[in-house]
Amino acid sequence: MPREYTLDNTRNIGIMAHIDAGKTTTTERILFYTGVNHKIGETHDGASTMDWMEQEAERGITITSAATTVHWKGNRINIIDTPGHVDFTVEVERSLRVLDGAVTVLDAKAGVEPQTETVWRQATAYGVPRIVFVNKMDSTGADFIMSCNTIIDRLGAKSCPIQLPIGAENEFKGVVDIIERKALYNEGDKGIKIVEGEVPEDLVDLMEDYRQKLLEYLADYDEDFMMMVLEGEEPSIEEIKRVLRIAVCNGDFFPVLCGSAYKDKGVQMVLDAVVDYLPSPVDVPAIQGTLPDGTETVRHSSDDEPFSALAFKIMTDKYVGKLTFFRVYSGTADSGSYVLNSTKDQRERFGRIVQMHANQRHEIPKVYAGDIAAAVGLKNTTTGDTLCDPDNEIILEKMEFPEPVIELSLEPKTKADQDKMGLALAKLAEEDPTFKTYTNKETGQTIIAGVGELHLDIIVDRLRREFNVEANIGKPQVAYRETIRKAAECEGKYIRQSGGKGQYGHVWIKFEPNEEGKGYEFVDAVVGGTVPREYIKPTN
Ligand code: GDP
Repeated sequence: MPREYTLDNTRNIGIMAHIDAGKTTTTERILFYTGVNHKIGETHDGASTMDWMEQEAERGITITSAATTVHWKGNRINIIDTPGHVDFTVEVERSLRVLDGAVTVLDAKAGVEPQTETVWRQATAYGVPRIVFVNKMDSTGADFIMSCNTIIDRLGAKSCPIQLPIGAENEFKGVVDIIERKALYNEGDKGIKIVEGEVPEDLVDLMEDYRQKLLEYLADYDEDFMMMVLEGEEPSIEEIKRVLRIAVCNGDFFPVLCGSAYKDKGVQMVLDAVVDYLPSPVDVPAIQGTLPDGTETVRHSSDDEPFSALAFKIMTDKYVGKLTFFRVYSGTADSGSYVLNSTKDQRERFGRIVQMHANQRHEIPKVYAGDIAAAVGLKNTTTGDTLCDPDNEIILEKMEFPEPVIELSLEPKTKADQDKMGLALAKLAEEDPTFKTYTNKETGQTIIAGVGELHLDIIVDRLRREFNVEANIGKPQVAYRETIRKAAECEGKYIRQSGGKGQYGHVWIKFEPNEEGKGYEFVDAVVGGTVPREYIKPTN
């Protein structure tokens, strides 16, 4: 069976945002316009499709990371859900690792916010090209130009609008396409119809200014284009789009669009921009891996190379049980076939392979290079493991996970709770590589450890809700043992550990160079909100 979509027509993207910027609403509109989700639920009443867990809806934050497949104008777009909560950096990094590009959503009232800076830096570290969507143009205080300026001022990024809003706040009507010099309006039920018009008179000068600025930025990415701009020649729309794609895929230029997901304006244009400017799996560097004899090698996004994939998320689904989400880097694999988990040196069978379309599952017979899908039936695979062709063993780049920094004791209330708790904790540890559990040898107590108090709050909540385990919970303790990867960036200063603020506040940790001067070691941790902010800001 041939592949349904070519690699050129595949996009693996994430949608990243500061909490409340509108990531969920934008994602829902995307599901709607791509024809999958015909019921637009409001986000915080629990009807949202991306927020799978009850908990998330209650807390209003997105913790899980799953993948949803949509189709747009002959392209297949896999949306990998990147959590919006800044402190769940492992989840964010885990998803950043497998996506090829992202849409950064900003709130037009605020522009770049502190959490945007964090995910922006992570995305840069993972080399993820981005486009920016300034959402909430309809809300009071919305300011597009201010928002664009924060991208340059606070993120120090090379960036230029490719759209302008027509009006703002209550008067927000549509967008100007700067490249094509036309106005675009969403009309009809749920803004399904795009109607073109003349650019409003009062926006023509601003549009021309930004257009010129855009061309000057793009001149850096293509010599012929530079000659045209220098000679004052007018490049065609196709030429501008071609070079803009090169610039975005290069990972250091960020075009800005605007709209209002809530008012059904501008979302389809974001989908067009995803297809036009974000990289396909063949536009990103080949993945690196290690052969059994230790030789470093690469695998290209091609169906003709041996199968290799990376597991990036384990979820337990109410209906089908354990789902292992994976990204295929090279080759193909059939459902029912055996693959090698080279990280654990065990054979695994792809019982069934499914793709998620909003909240529906579709079974697929085969996966191809560049695909994102979930397998049912993998027994021992955990997040970060490589799955590969048994005759062509390889281990892909490993994912790194931070060590737990905070722990607490759990005392089951009854013997029945004790039995249930053992199984439940094993299951949770399997889903989440940053969660650890062990028995304190002295006290015999069960200890759970995580990357922050919010992380542990969620574990305790899940124990109660999903596994019906009642337990007395101890007070959180700092459990820091290892140096962290970013130690070098925060030498001698307290930094806020990821994992979230819990009942007792944040965890602050401090590192100093170790005696041999070869690395850094953890010297102190403080629980609570008392460390002055300017003192702890990491230097990166
Ligand atoms: P997330 O936390 O980034 O996923 O944000 P949500 O999509 O949950 O949105 C947060 C809040 O902002 C919700 O109350 C939304 O209804 C609201 N919201 C989202 N998009 C818009 C928008 O374009 N305009 C306005 N006025 N509100 C919006």
